[in-house]
Amino acid sequence: MQSQWPSICAIASAVQAGTTSASELVERALIAIAKKDEYKAIIATTETRARQRALTIDKQVSDGLAVGRLAGVPFIAKDNFLVFGADTTAASNILRGFSAPYQSVAIEKLEAEGAICVAKANLDAFAHGSSTENSDFMTTKNPHDSTRVPGGSSGGSAAAVMLDLAPFALGTDTGGSIRLPASYCGAVGYKPTYGLVSRSGVVAMASSTDVIGPLTRSVEDAAMVLDVMAGKDALDGTTIERESAGYTNLAGALPSKVGVIKEYMAEGIDPAVKGQIVAAIDALKARSVEVVEISLPSLSAALAAYYILCPAEVSSNLSRYDGQRFGHSDLEARTLDESYGRSRSTGFGREAKRRIMIGTYVLSSGYYDAYYVKAQTVRTKLIAEFNEAFQSVDFLLGPTAPNTAFKIGENIKDPLQMYLIDILTVAANLVGVPAISLPAGSANDMPVGLQIMAAQKNDRALLTFAKAYEELLA
Ligand code: GLN
Repeated sequence: MQSQWPSICAIASAVQAGTTSASELVERALIAIAKKDEYKAIIATTETRARQRALTIDKQVSDGLAVGRLAGVPFIAKDNFLVFGADTTAASNILRGFSAPYQSVAIEKLEAEGAICVAKANLDAFAHGSSTENSDFMTTKNPHDSTRVPGGSSGGSAAAVMLDLAPFALGTDTGGSIRLPASYCGAVGYKPTYGLVSRSGVVAMASSTDVIGPLTRSVEDAAMVLDVMAGKDALDGTTIERESAGYTNLAGALPSKVGVIKEYMAEGIDPAVKGQIVAAIDALKARSVEVVEISLPSLSAALAAYYILCPAEVSSNLSRYDGQRFGHSDLEARTLDESYGRSRSTGFGREAKRRIMIGTYVLSSGYYDAYYVKAQTVRTKLIAEFNEAFQSVDFLLGPTAPNTAFKIGENIKDPLQMYLIDILTVAANLVGVPAISLPAGSANDMPVGLQIMAAQKNDRALLTFAKAYEELLA
């Protein structure tokens, strides 16, 4: 699919030079959003504020003032980012009508460089899901085939980028939610090292694995967005320092050796997907990259561990939605207790309730040791196995998803089947390492994603390799 948007860098340069106006770019995005409405990628636009910001930037340019590195670049934020100009709903009924009192740090940083948020993208409510069908509002359609899901939970963001609504979109990745929709929609999806981007002002899902990252059409664009967002932040105690070289001006060199994860090429992966990944690996071999097989035995328990730890954290993070402070409140209630109960039972959807039940169960005194502690043990073993693997190779490869985008409705009645789709993405979150999903051809007439992971804090090296791989395909 040809894009109407040049690279982020080219757009910003044109705005800085005065050859394109920010207002023109915002209108172009808003027109595209209206035109592609039937895909249901967008919950709301922030058009009034976006137009105002564009006028301010255009005035700064005409006054000869400095505008930022992302001057006039329109973007779309997943609707779990606090953003001014539209409600922040996380696609949940319980947050309907909630207007953000402040903006996410990531959004503030992008705005400080001149980027303009034009809309909020659909997601699985509270980012719980792999298809965007768990949104309380609507189901987003895959840009390549509107009978199929875009993946989730950042399905609206991935679809928005591939529908060409804006040059980039933001997503969150707690167990794969940037990479999976990138894979299903044919976008580049980047999940940074845990802590590299501040989570302040983003609706929390599972705080020990939540990460913010970009969805784009190219590695260079993803790197540019990351470069603006990355770094230590006083409002998020888990943030880490950015790499001194930053994340732009990537040389794009192939590594001399990579590892292919044995467990990721095993049974259960659609043979057509596997074929594309083997072809990608062969292309690397043809460029003299040494490819070795690496086994990470604890991966077999990663998904089970994730679906204990994640709901445990979810059940705690969702306790703040009590009908008193944010969004929806049930007005029929006569007592405070009744208000908590009624607001939560009418406000939360099925999946949020399922996770609250699982989470409180695995954390309850009788089951804590049997489930929660065991899952943490698996997590520790996984971290050790990844650390050991990164002693012998700098990168680990495999598919992003075991399949290509499935039909809308196909898995929604079977939560276990839906959870299984995350089988290849959750490990990077549990271990906290950076991971990217890159377009790697197609299978079943739908896009396939190649996943590459690197050791923690090696984001620059990962993006460098990803760029070289992209050039290999070009
Ligand atoms: N699909 C996974 C889940 O439902 C991951 C979600 C995410 O990364 N936000 O938990």
